[in-house]
Amino acid sequence: MQKLLVGTRNDSKMAELKDLLRELPFELVFLDQVGITQEVEETEDTFEGNAVLKAECYGRIANMITVADDSGIEVDALNGEPGVLSARYGGEGLNDKDRNDLLLENLSEFEGTGLSARFKCVVAVYHPEDGAEVFEGKIEGIITHEPRGENGFGYDPLFFYPQRRKTLAEISAKEKHVISHRGKAVRKAAKYLYSVSVRTRG
Ligand code: IMP
Repeated sequence: MQKLLVGTRNDSKMAELKDLLRELPFELVFLDQVGITQEVEETEDTFEGNAVLKAECYGRIANMITVADDSGIEVDALNGEPGVLSARYGGEGLNDKDRNDLLLENLSEFEGTGLSARFKCVVAVYHPEDGAEVFEGKIEGIITHEPRGENGFGYDPLFFYPQRRKTLAEISAKEKHVISHRGKAVRKAAKYLYSVSVRTRG
């Protein structure tokens, strides 16, 4: 079976990508398995730029078809922040809970108002002959004033999804895949990857 390199070291994202890509006719391999130890610095100011940067860099080193994503949360009251800086919000050394606390602190002056926000994800697929293709997904929601739920990762406990009346941390991984920014972007990427696999076989 053809191999597909998954260009992330984030365990939670790895698990989601594994789940979302499992029906494709590709064997998924991870950075450690191909001996890639480098980190790609996210120097671009868009999700698309960083996703392409990661997929191209890892894909060129390994000379393999490679998938990478960049994602984050945009809060309208903060003019779209944390955005591309979501993973590094507040600087080095913070964990998910610290970042959630910081976000709530920065939103404290807006208490009582409906804080619209969205998760965005751009998935880039690098192909050694064809270059990079990008696929986008997003989910709209509202920031809660109290974290709720134990599932998921990152800002999920603060992200209330009105259609389910739950935060993303209160729904199962399976349900999250159906509605999430990453689920939507990966399903588009999977269609492209499927066409690549057919082309390569034929
Ligand atoms: P990056 O794509 O590796 O730059 O990291 C994106 C960051 O955005 C993650 O570390 C999380 O903090 C946040 N994020 C992205 N997707 C999700 C999600 O599905 N749930 C919660 N937080 C997310």
